[in-house]
Amino acid sequence: MKPVLSLVLTLFLLFSSNISFGQTVNNELKITQITGDFYVYTTYKMFGTKKQDANAMYVVTPEGVILFDSPWDTFPFQSLLDTIEAKHHKKIILAVATHSHEDRTSGLDFYKQLGIKTYTTKQTDEISIEYERPRAEFLIEKDTVFNVGDFKFETYYAGEGHTKDNIVIWFEKQKILYGGCLVKSIDAKDLEYVGEANVTEWPNTIKRVQTKFNKPKFIITGHHDWKSIYSLKHTLNLLRANEKKNKYKK
Ligand SMILES: [Zn+2]
Repeated sequence: MKPVLSLVLTLFLLFSSNISFGQTVNNELKITQITGDFYVYTTYKMFGTKKQDANAMYVVTPEGVILFDSPWDTFPFQSLLDTIEAKHHKKIILAVATHSHEDRTSGLDFYKQLGIKTYTTKQTDEISIEYERPRAEFLIEKDTVFNVGDFKFETYYAGEGHTKDNIVIWFEKQKILYGGCLVKSIDAKDLEYVGEANVTEWPNTIKRVQTKFNKPKFIITGHHDWKSIYSLKHTLNLLRANEKKNKYKK
């Protein structure tokens, strides 16, 4: 082969393999049953060379599916709806985002167009306006109890942590705590992205969650492995380690 042609071919192969690699990651969707009608769905996005996962949750009720948080903005939203509909023969009727970051809110505009009822807190909405992030149609001003087709859950704002506006979701009957990014996975080695965090208040916020929701059977974290029930404690340990590290820095 002529050197120029082989170079062109190599470049083409490199280029096309990169594209297909990106598409695979962006389209990847993992659905895992938590228990009964509760599922975690995970999507992936490349940040530089690092593949980052994001966990969200959905619940299949007789009236339709409730979605807690969005896939990454690189994931094709329609494909999530199609997969859930094909798997459970139910439509998504309600979507709640637990703070304003892209791994929580990115699907809101898309859902709204389809007539899915979208919710965030007013506090999240204020941040979304400021940073021009997707916004929900309906706003909740304080902790709210939702009843959807035999399922009851409450939203709880325990204070600042990963972000100013992070809320958690609690299913009392099933003892399922959806912690989102406020709660760090047992696999997390540090607090990860803290650009909008309040690390001073975060421990108090975690303690409020622990006090309010007694003995959760499942705690769903925003990233990484969510199968441990020690993730609230682990979050406190990471916060303590972080505080120590900062003290030595000073
Ligand atoms: Zn997150």
